[in-house]
Amino acid sequence: MASELDGLPVIATRREEAEGFLQGLVSKSLGWARKYSLFTYPFVTACCGMEYMTMASARYDSDRFGAAMPRFSPRQADLLMVVGTVNCKQAPILQRIYEQMADPKWVMAFGVCASSGGFYDNYATVQGIDRIIPVDVYVPGCPPRPEQVLDGIMLLQKKIQNQSHKLIDRKPLPVIAGGPGR
Ligand code: SF4
Repeated sequence: MASELDGLPVIATRREEAEGFLQGLVSKSLGWARKYSLFTYPFVTACCGMEYMTMASARYDSDRFGAAMPRFSPRQADLLMVVGTVNCKQAPILQRIYEQMADPKWVMAFGVCASSGGFYDNYATVQGIDRIIPVDVYVPGCPPRPEQVLDGIMLLQKKIQNQSHKLIDRKPLPVIAGGPGR
C-alpha cells in the first residue's frame, strides 16, 4: 500500500543540505582569501593623491591588510580607489574603467570630493561618484588621514567576508544576434 511518505525527495533534500553546507564553507574561505588580497587601481585626479601615497608608504604599511599592490590595469584590479575630484568630463572614463574590471570588484570613494563633490558644488563636478558607479565604502576627510583610509579598508574587508562568494558564478551567456547557427 502506498504511503504518503513514498516519493519524498529525502536524498535530494540531504544533497541540497550538503551543497548548502559546502557552499557556506566555500563562501567563507573565498571571502577570507579575497579580503586579504585586494589589488587596488588608484584613479587619482587631485590633491588626495598625496595622502594615497602616504597611506601606501612603509610607515602606514597597507600590506598588513593585503592591499599594498597597486595595479595600473583595471583588468588586474579588484578594488577601484577613486582618489580626488571627478569632473563631468572624466565621468565616462571612470565608468569605462569600472566596467573593464572583472568581478568580483569593489569601489572606495577616497575623500569628500569623491564621496560627495566636496566643496566643489558646481556644474562641472560630479557630486559623488555613486551617481555614476556603485560605491562600497566612503572615506571622509579633505584629505582623509591615512588611518581613516586603513579604517575604510578594514570596513571593506568585513563587507567582503560577509558577502556570498560562489566557486563558479555562472551568468547566462549573452545572446549574439546573427551568431553561429543563425
Ligand atoms: S577631498 Fe580635499 S584633498 Fe581630496 S581632492 Fe578634494 S579638495 Fe583635494
